[in-house]
This record gives sequence, C-alpha cells and structure tokens, in this order.
Amino acid sequence: MAIYEYRCDQDGLFEVTRPLGTAPELATCSVCGREARRVFSVGMVKRGSNSALVAAMDHAEKSRHEPDVVTSVPSSSAGKRTLSMTPDLWQLPRP
Ligand SMILES: [Zn+2]
Repeated sequence: MAIYEYRCDQDGLFEVTRPLGTAPELATCSVCGREARRVFSVGMVKRGSNSALVAAMDHAEKSRHEPDVVTSVPSSSAGKRTLSMTPDLWQLPRP
C-alpha cells in the first residue's frame, strides 16, 4: 500500500491509502465531498514502505498526466562515467 496526497480546493491536503499504482487522478474529499486533484509530493515517497518502488511507481504515474519536459538533447557526455579527482587520488604517485 502507498499513501497518496490529494488537494481539495476548500479543505486542503488529505491522504488516501491505495495499493501501489492504483491511485486515481481524482479522489473525493472526505470533508466536503468535492473532487480533489492528486498531488505528486516527495513527502509521500519518504513515508512509503518501499521508497524506491514507490518513487518509481509515482514517477510512472506522473508521466501519464504530467510528463517531464525535455527542452534539450542530453549532452553526449551524460552517459559516460568520469572518475572525479578527489584529494586522495591526487596524492597517488604519477607514472
Ligand atoms: Zn473538501
């Protein structure tokens, strides 16, 4: 189960517990009965029992409604692993 947050225009945030990946975009506010929109929050991830899975599922769901927008092509160096030179590495003998 995971906790999902919704925001009611009148009553503010409230939480709904649902099985992972089943949270609807809209939920009914328990106070006023209006429809409330889902809020994608980092806080929900932290409270989840399996935060990595919850984060992945949340991101997958978010992508359906609010996909991340890429404005530029990732640079070619993004995928390369570079060894950062820490002070310890600088002290090693040079060839
Ligand atoms: Zn409400």
